[in-house]
Amino acid sequence: MQKIIMLKYAELNTKKANIGMFLHILKQNIEEKIGNFANIEFDKGRMFIKTEEKNYSFVLNSLKKIFGIHEIEVGYQIENTKMSLIEESLIKIIQNKDFQTFKVETKRSDKNYPLTSLEISKHLGGIILKNKENIKVDVQNPEVIFYVEIRKDHAYIYSEKIKGLGGYPVGTLGKGLLMLSGGIDSPVAGYLAMKRGVKIEAIYFESPPHTSVEAKNKVEALAKIISEYATPIKIHVINFTKIQEEIYKNIPHEYLITIMRRMMYRISEKIAYRNNCKILINGESIGQVASQTLTSMAAINEVVSIPVIRPVACFDKLEIIALAKQIGTYETSILPFEDCCTIFVPEHPVINPEKEKCLEYEKLIPYEELIKEALQTETVLTNQTKKEFEDLL
Ligand code: ATP
Ligand code: MG
Repeated sequence: MQKIIMLKYAELNTKKANIGMFLHILKQNIEEKIGNFANIEFDKGRMFIKTEEKNYSFVLNSLKKIFGIHEIEVGYQIENTKMSLIEESLIKIIQNKDFQTFKVETKRSDKNYPLTSLEISKHLGGIILKNKENIKVDVQNPEVIFYVEIRKDHAYIYSEKIKGLGGYPVGTLGKGLLMLSGGIDSPVAGYLAMKRGVKIEAIYFESPPHTSVEAKNKVEALAKIISEYATPIKIHVINFTKIQEEIYKNIPHEYLITIMRRMMYRISEKIAYRNNCKILINGESIGQVASQTLTSMAAINEVVSIPVIRPVACFDKLEIIALAKQIGTYETSILPFEDCCTIFVPEHPVINPEKEKCLEYEKLIPYEELIKEALQTETVLTNQTKKEFEDLL
């Protein structure tokens, strides 16, 4: 018998016509992460992964970070489906396991097998009882369940099931541009979009010298953390200093943030379209700050036609923080470097901005010119990986 990792992708099975494409991308994503360390095989409804003992925990940990995998089963592949060999293997497996109560659950995808699933479970339950002391069967609440699967050429035994991340394989739903700041919310928003299969590029607005190089490094570090759940993330860095200074000098301060964010949206839309991104993604959360009231969001959103997805819109801050901790971005997000949104904060930002006023105030600055100039400052950071950056789409 040989140690094996098996993957299930339940939700993908609902994608009837497109299942082939989803699985193809899932396999690509898995190969990209662990291809050099493991042998990956497809079968109906499953993927089988074998690796050497020394790479085992690396492979398992990598699989835990891949979207599209719903369950990871860790167990053994038996050379064939002969009952004598299954018994022999099971006896070996139970010797290394500590438990007092158990049950056996069997599935047969080979319907020609001479015994039914129930008969196999009963039989193997008896074998376990005979070969280990002080244990008993508990069908209601067993400490260990031995899952036995009889497939065409091999049988499988496993008792360890790990919940996968779920979602869809990154890249199956096209590409989006994440507005990535150094805060807590936007990396979480990016993670959630990736979970729905969206491949991410990021845009970051910097305002040197008002914002420091550490602030930019922090954004790069955040991109790197969330890229562990997918492929590397390209970051488009835009110098926003001049726009911010012009807004600060010329526009009534209660509208600073509203106008600033309208500029960010306009620039983001352009960068998105240039890079084949179909949506913008950001970390706005309803009611969190003055610029995230419904009226503010409407006044800001109206300057673009690209769809804007806000994965954390309906989460409260504690829920966002809990997810940030879980995915590993929180500790980096709370590092104290100023973001361009926090340096020019007016004392009384408008909560219900009027669209007409936005248009009127924007006439006070040559904003189209300023946007053109800002776009020319674009630099792209791609160096978060050893591998060459490669677009799947
Ligand atoms: P916090 O966790 O402190 O709320 P935040 O990143 O959510 O941080 P907000 O001021 O609430 O900050 O901004 C709302 C959203 O706008 C962000 O989630 C992010 O998507 C986008 N954004 C803000 N500042 C920038 C920036 N400098 N570059 C790119 N996107 C930004
Ligand atoms: Mg926020």
